[in-house]
Amino acid sequence: MTPNKTVVFQPDERQDYGDDPTAVRESDKYVSEYIRGFVDKWDELIDWKSRAESEGRFFIDVLKARGKHSVLDVAAGTGFHSIQLAKAGFDVTSADGSAEMLAKAFDNGREHGVVLKTVHADWRKLNKDVHGKFDAIICLGNSFTHLFDEHDRRRALAEFYAALKHDGILIIDQRNYDGILDNGFSTKHKYYYCGDQVTAEPVHVDEGLARFEYTFPDGSKHNLNMFPLRKNYVRDLLREAGFQKLHSYGDFMEEGEESDPDFFVHLAEKEYDR
Ligand code: SAM
Repeated sequence: MTPNKTVVFQPDERQDYGDDPTAVRESDKYVSEYIRGFVDKWDELIDWKSRAESEGRFFIDVLKARGKHSVLDVAAGTGFHSIQLAKAGFDVTSADGSAEMLAKAFDNGREHGVVLKTVHADWRKLNKDVHGKFDAIICLGNSFTHLFDEHDRRRALAEFYAALKHDGILIIDQRNYDGILDNGFSTKHKYYYCGDQVTAEPVHVDEGLARFEYTFPDGSKHNLNMFPLRKNYVRDLLREAGFQKLHSYGDFMEEGEESDPDFFVHLAEKEYDR
């Protein structure tokens, strides 16, 4: 060590968006957004118990009704769906591009008596790191919104498509950004971000960016910069990626049953229906 030089240990990294946070619109940014301090708070934000109650058996039923068994969770995050599905008897592989998230998912798995099979993989080169073909891929919790570049979105969907068996299905969800862009933000605070001591609200929205701020009871704040995906745009991308059948749900109900949902879930099936 150099004499007279003090080694400073950083207590925690901080999110860094530079001088103009609204100018940060990059698909790679997610890695440095999910810093340890935010990841540790993520489960407070989503509140597993309330989330489990609000989602019910939706994903389990969709998968079981189609006879699916092997599931690749490409946006494992802290492991909520991976653990739920593993406990329900599915053969789950948990992938994520954030090593912080995966480590937390693994720890959460152990707390729930599940040893998760984790793979560190970015969606855009998924098949380089994840091997084998799956009955189903899930990409949940408004994750796809992290991709800012259309080329990245198409690439990720092509990778998902390739990792599925010939009759595989992709379940992908998103916030109702049409509602936010066209009518302003409102939330039922019932799905996904269920923690009642936590707020999750946009601080900037335009057609190319939804910057959300998450405030926790201890006063700490974190942000995510996301691309506001319009619902029909996502549906078009899914069709153009080769998925033959598409079905969209609003807040886990059939479309039309819920007039202004907070979230959409798209079920995209590979199988050609003649
Ligand atoms: N699915 C989890 C949930 O519902 O709680 C996590 C959702 S979190 C909003 C988004 C997740 O997607 C993060 O864990 C992030 O690391 C991951 N992610 C974002 N972009 C990614 C990419 N290009 N490749 C792999 N993972 C990515």
